[in-house]
Amino acid sequence: MLLLTQELGSAQREATRHPGLVDPFGRAITYLRVSVTDRCDFRCVYCMSEHMTFLPKRDLLTLHELDRVCSAFIAQGVRKLRITGGEPLVRRDVMGLFRSLSRHLASGALDELTLTTNGSQLGRFAVELADCGVRRVNVSVDTLDPGKFRSITRWGDLAQVLAGIDAAQEAGLRVKINTVALKGVNEDEIETLMEWAHGRGMDLTVIEVMPLGDIEPSRLDQYLPLSVVRARLSGRYTLVDLDDRTGGPARYVRVKETGGRLGFITPLTHNFCESCNRVRLTCTGQLFMCLGQEDAADLRAPVRASKDDGLLDQAIAEAISRKPKGHDFIIDRRHARPVVGRHMSMTGG
Ligand code: SAM
Ligand code: SF4
Repeated sequence: MLLLTQELGSAQREATRHPGLVDPFGRAITYLRVSVTDRCDFRCVYCMSEHMTFLPKRDLLTLHELDRVCSAFIAQGVRKLRITGGEPLVRRDVMGLFRSLSRHLASGALDELTLTTNGSQLGRFAVELADCGVRRVNVSVDTLDPGKFRSITRWGDLAQVLAGIDAAQEAGLRVKINTVALKGVNEDEIETLMEWAHGRGMDLTVIEVMPLGDIEPSRLDQYLPLSVVRARLSGRYTLVDLDDRTGGPARYVRVKETGGRLGFITPLTHNFCESCNRVRLTCTGQLFMCLGQEDAADLRAPVRASKDDGLLDQAIAEAISRKPKGHDFIIDRRHARPVVGRHMSMTGG
């Protein structure tokens, strides 16, 4: 097996324990992110253009097909599933999918079933999610200013999202807040967001804007390196590096003054590919082996070709065998175009 890194990363150590799906770089694939819809009730400026064309419904995997693909991955060693989108909670009957996938939690085949959401529908679904075995949810909040929230999301209502977060916490779900750092938009608010999140017992993860999909504002205008955010916070707070990676790309610190955890996802200033243990399924059944590369494997055709999972299993194994070493995101004046043409709402965050 070809090992390109000197030391074994966490995904490679995992490969020695779970000899299920292992990529050419020795990384065990134990984490599947599933985008169940490309639609959304918001139009965040860094994620979507104002006038998006959405996929026709016939192109989407049905909930039954989504369950089949997830179950095939679980049978091959995936231990963690994250449901995302678009906005996953706007897909009709999505709770049916959570309910059926929860059988894998009950059987012990799956360690975690989780969700990334904009929070707008959490008021309706938090109790049911908890009932299906979901323990943690990530909610995206980029500002606590209602007017700014409306202008970032174009259509969103902050009060509804905050009520959703209340509902999630009342239902016993652990909430982590995701904030995309946007130059000149919320860069002066990161501290306020952190104090608010930590005050409510929630982790906060700050994310660098990634060059995915064509949008109206320029990426260069939006891009704020997290090295800058971290340096500013370090002036006021004591940030103590933590080792825990929660299976994700975030690097965490403990903020001594608040006692809370703060994560940084820095695809541009700090590449995290060596420990990548994940692949991403779109709502049409395309499997992306890397968020930052165009290559994808079609899993819809094998799902629809036969009721038996043989072809699907074969397609999954073939796809993992071509997972690339990593991405090469870059945003600067010479690279004003997106590196990858599809929007984040298509691949799922
Ligand atoms: N609608 C849900 C939400 O907003 O949480 C789930 C899907 S959204 C695509 C997942 C995450 O991706 C969100 O935290 C969002 O802020 C982030 N995101 C979207 N576009 C991005 C981009 N171009 N760069 C970095 N993060 C992005
Ligand atoms: Fe919708 Fe999430 Fe994209 Fe915002 S980030 S437009 S909420 S999918």
